[in-house]
Amino acid sequence: MFGFGKSKVKIHPEVDGGVHKGSANYAGGTLSCKCPDHKVTVNIKGNCAYNHVCGCSKCWKPEGALFSQVAVVGRDNLTVGENGNKLQIVDESAPIQRYACRGCGVHMYGRIENTDHPFHGFDFIHTELSTTPGFEEPKFAAFVSSIIEGGFNPDDMDGVRERLKQLGLEPYDVLAPGLMDAIATHAAKKSGALPA
Ligand SMILES: [Zn+2]
Ligand SMILES: [Zn+2]
Repeated sequence: MFGFGKSKVKIHPEVDGGVHKGSANYAGGTLSCKCPDHKVTVNIKGNCAYNHVCGCSKCWKPEGALFSQVAVVGRDNLTVGENGNKLQIVDESAPIQRYACRGCGVHMYGRIENTDHPFHGFDFIHTELSTTPGFEEPKFAAFVSSIIEGGFNPDDMDGVRERLKQLGLEPYDVLAPGLMDAIATHAAKKSGALPA
C-alpha cells in the first residue's frame, strides 16, 4: 500500500519522494532565502560537489526535516548577491562560519576561514535554495547517528538507515570515505607522515 516515495521515515523534503538526478554540466545558480521580500541571494558559479544529507545539529534544516541537505563549492565560485546586509554569522567560534539571514533564519552559506582546516577553500551550501534545478543530487548521508543528539529515538535508527539505503544515500556516521581520506591525508601531510 505504501509506494517507494511514501515511507513514513521522513529524511528531507528534497529526497523523500526519491532522489532527482542533477545535470552533469550545470552552469550554476542563485540561492535565495525564504523571506517574502528583500531576499538574500547568493550566486554560485558551476556545479556543487559532495552533495549529501547531514544529520548533524549545526546544519540548517527546513521545518520538520530530520536531515539537512548540504554540498560544497569552491569559495571563489560563491558571491553574495542582493541584501547581503541581512546576513549574520550564527556562531563565530565554530570552524564553519554559517551565514544566516536575520529575517528568515535560513543559512545561505558556510565558510571556513582557518587555512589549516582540511576543507579550507570549500564553502557549504544548501542546494534546495536554488531558484533553478540542476545542482548535483545528494549521494550519501553523513553524521547519521547524530540525529539522536537532536532528540531522535535511538530505537528507530534501523528504519532511518534502511530508508537512506533505499534512497541510494549510503549512511555514514561521520563522512563518506573519500572525505575521511582527505581529512587523514591533510593530517598526515601536516605531521610529516606523508610528504607535503
Ligand atoms: Zn531571509
Ligand atoms: Zn551537518
